[in-house]
Amino acid sequence: MVERYANCINGKWLAPGTGDYVANINPADPAEILGMFPASGGADVEQAIAAAVAASEGWRRVPGPERGKLLLRFADLLEQHTDPLAKILTKEQGKPLKESVGEVKRAAAESRFMAGEASRLAGETLPSERQGVWVQVIREPLGVVGAIMPWNFPVVTPVRKLAPALACGNTVVFKPASDTPWTGVYLMELLLEAGFPPGAVNLVMGPGSLVGQKLAESPLVQGITFTGSTTTGRRIYAATAQHLGRVQLELGGKNPAVVMDAYDLEEAAKEIVSAAFAASGQRCTAISRVLTSRAEATKLTEIIVDLASKLKVGNGLSPEVEVGPLVSQAQLEIVEGYIETAKKEGARVLTGGKRLPELGKGFYYSPTVLDKVTPKSVVAKEEVFGPVLPIIVVDSMEEALTICNDTEYGLAACVFTKDIDKAMQFATEIKTGMVHINHGTASQAHVPFGGVKNSGQGAYSIGGTAKDFCMVNKVVYLKFNQ
Ligand code: NAP
Ligand code: MG
Repeated sequence: MVERYANCINGKWLAPGTGDYVANINPADPAEILGMFPASGGADVEQAIAAAVAASEGWRRVPGPERGKLLLRFADLLEQHTDPLAKILTKEQGKPLKESVGEVKRAAAESRFMAGEASRLAGETLPSERQGVWVQVIREPLGVVGAIMPWNFPVVTPVRKLAPALACGNTVVFKPASDTPWTGVYLMELLLEAGFPPGAVNLVMGPGSLVGQKLAESPLVQGITFTGSTTTGRRIYAATAQHLGRVQLELGGKNPAVVMDAYDLEEAAKEIVSAAFAASGQRCTAISRVLTSRAEATKLTEIIVDLASKLKVGNGLSPEVEVGPLVSQAQLEIVEGYIETAKKEGARVLTGGKRLPELGKGFYYSPTVLDKVTPKSVVAKEEVFGPVLPIIVVDSMEEALTICNDTEYGLAACVFTKDIDKAMQFATEIKTGMVHINHGTASQAHVPFGGVKNSGQGAYSIGGTAKDFCMVNKVVYLKFNQ
């Protein structure tokens, strides 16, 4: 018997008003239905928004440190539930269990950091032009936040959005991605168990074009925090603009790794391969192009191909698996399409470049490395969001930087070099939100995270900057007798 799951509005588990459900399948075995999840409609979204509005009056008055205590409890619960939550994550998303465990632990760390921030929601006091007057800038909650999730990190991304919103005194309507609603339900259960009051977080599942769009359009929702594609981000930006809502958009990337006079090619290659193929390349910060000096190209390519071809692909629940299936048939076809285009544009497949039917009916695609890639080709400029790594040969740091910056994206970038001048030239001239020197694209749980150009809009999430999205300023002039 396949289980039916419910939305959670005002602390109550409710069937969708539409009466409609969609099947959530296991990408490693598409015949396995993991559960039936609500395909909610407009009335469900309105009900969730109303619950968040109603809960806002009480929640915003709870002292910050008290709100923080609940986030600490939530972090503890995440850790206590690491094993079952990680298994659900792997089953519905596909990534290897080791990565899922890491994702849950990272979510706990981010929740703990934001728990502390709830005691640091400081404003400022300014000197006054007038005697007997104090001038203060205080920070208040934004109000109701709509949180719209991607499917690639369905545990840490919700926590990254919900924890800051709650720490800062906002209430939330939480919409998981349709490919990964199960982890959303589990997170909601843990939030209730942690003691967040009814209506502080409301879970509504359903199609983004309806549920997400309606959240963005609602003038009762003061801000949308979104992670996903640049195309959808633009739609959300346009919808919120109608009522001058605030946005925090975390969008796509085309993250380069430049290798030029590296300390150690072996080390650089390891970092690159890990950052390129984790989550089957379905990461916004995946390294998705390598630019190598001509002198290092042959050796570097050889090591990368060797490492990539040895990655063990399979069902993420098997402990030895390093690369799981792609999340869906649609994503598999997108990746295949990019490889076909790349070949037509003259690229050479050095390893991978094919489906793996011998592994069963899962959405498997082999880790792929391409060379003979030209900087203007599609695979060199567009985000593939799959296990595909093109290699481009360059003759100088200037040329590398020109190519790196010649995309619509600006999320993360790496340089592997022992030349401090080249490292600093790269850090200064690259147009991305994050730069890594002799380091893959891994971020940390207390450090601002975000992108420029078409990779993002609004305050960086994670770390202290998350508060800039979640709070508004209020200026208080206070006159007293002196
Ligand atoms: P997506 O199609 O943009 O979907 C993201 C979310 O938006 C889903 O919950 C989706 O709902 C919802 N949505 C769809 N249409 C909407 C609309 N008109 N209004 C409001 N919400 C709507 O992206 P994706 O396929 O999940 O993720 C892949 C992309 O996300 C990649 O481009 C990747 O780079 C980017 N990404 C960026 C980051 C970052 O931090 N910068 C992190 C992860 C992913 P449904 O699921 O129901 O369609
Ligand atoms: Mg699924």
